[in-house]
Parts: sequence; C-alpha cells; structure tokens
Amino acid sequence: MVELIPSQDSVMQILKKTGAFREGHFVYPNGKHSPHYFQMPLAFRYYDTARVLAVALSRKFRLEKDISSQLPKISIISPSSGGIPVAFGVRDALNAEQIYWAEQEHGQRMFRQYVNQGEVNPCIVVDDIIRSGKAIEETVALVKSLGAKIIGCGAIVRFDSAPNEIEGVEIKSLVDYDVKIYAKADDCVECKDAVSAETVRF
Ligand SMILES: [Zn+2]
Repeated sequence: MVELIPSQDSVMQILKKTGAFREGHFVYPNGKHSPHYFQMPLAFRYYDTARVLAVALSRKFRLEKDISSQLPKISIISPSSGGIPVAFGVRDALNAEQIYWAEQEHGQRMFRQYVNQGEVNPCIVVDDIIRSGKAIEETVALVKSLGAKIIGCGAIVRFDSAPNEIEGVEIKSLVDYDVKIYAKADDCVECKDAVSAETVRF
C-alpha cells in the first residue's frame, strides 16, 4: 500500500540515512550544547529523498480547504536558502503559481528588489527546519507588508519548543522533535560522560 504521509519514524529514518540527523555531542556557535544535530540540506542533496519529503509536506497542505480551494493561485515562500528546495518541491506537488525566497541583507529579511505590493499570491511559508520560529515570524511580517495573506506554514522538522501556530495558521510538520539543548557545558550530560564534542557552524 502506498503510504500517503510517511510516519514521523520513517521520516526520521530518512534523515538519519542521509546524514541530515546526527547524534553525538555538538557545540553550537552560540555556545550551547546538544546531543543531536540537524543539517537538513544533506537530506535534500538526493533528489528522490527531497521529493518524498516535499510531497509528504504538500499533502498536509492540500488537506486544508483554505489552501486547496485557492490553487493554483498561491505562492510558496522560503524564509532562507535552506527552505528553497522545500519550496520548489512543494510548489511542484501543489502546482502553485509562484515561488519566493527571502535573504538576509544588513540583518533584515527581504525579497529581491522589484517584488511589488499586491503581486504576491496568498502564501504558504515553508522551511526545512523550524528551530525558534524567528525566521518564519520575520517572513510572515515581510509577506504581510507586501499585502499578501498567509494561508499555510510548515517545515519538514519542527522543534517542539517552537510555536505551533502563527497568525492563527497552524504550523505543519512531518516531525515534531523533542529537542535537548543545554545552555552551558556545566549542564551537558555528554560533557559529564566525556563524549568527544564537535563544533558545528550553524
Ligand atoms: Zn557538552
């Protein structure tokens, strides 16, 4: 039987197999420690895997009447480069008319120049992973400033410490991850167990 939306476990297996989910002892650039690390582009480097993940997420959106009724005149929006393959995959599956991605310039999230007020279709914001929710929040503010409406929001992985809705729109995900982050080395279980640590760039 075809599995329409893969379970959280089978998505985690895909992420492990591709190297996108890693276990061990990691030190983030902000000095926090964690026994796990997600590097989502490693899953999206394989076209077939990228397709499976994006199609699965798109099915969650298609179930929403407010979204399915507006197809294909919607836009898929990525807050940053990591979400671009997700946005293209979801666009393909839903046959949405537009894609946009934001970039950080001078500390501000923005689209390329000449995207004008009123040109952006009703939006689904998608990302590869939602950690704090800040990127999604900034993108929603950007889209609203251009006069567009948010009709959906989602990611492949959402940390369970992140918000589960934005502007009354539920944040959909294939995995809700029970995140363990230690603010300092003194609290870190892996430090106490003397597990060798890797420093990660993002
Ligand atoms: Zn540690």
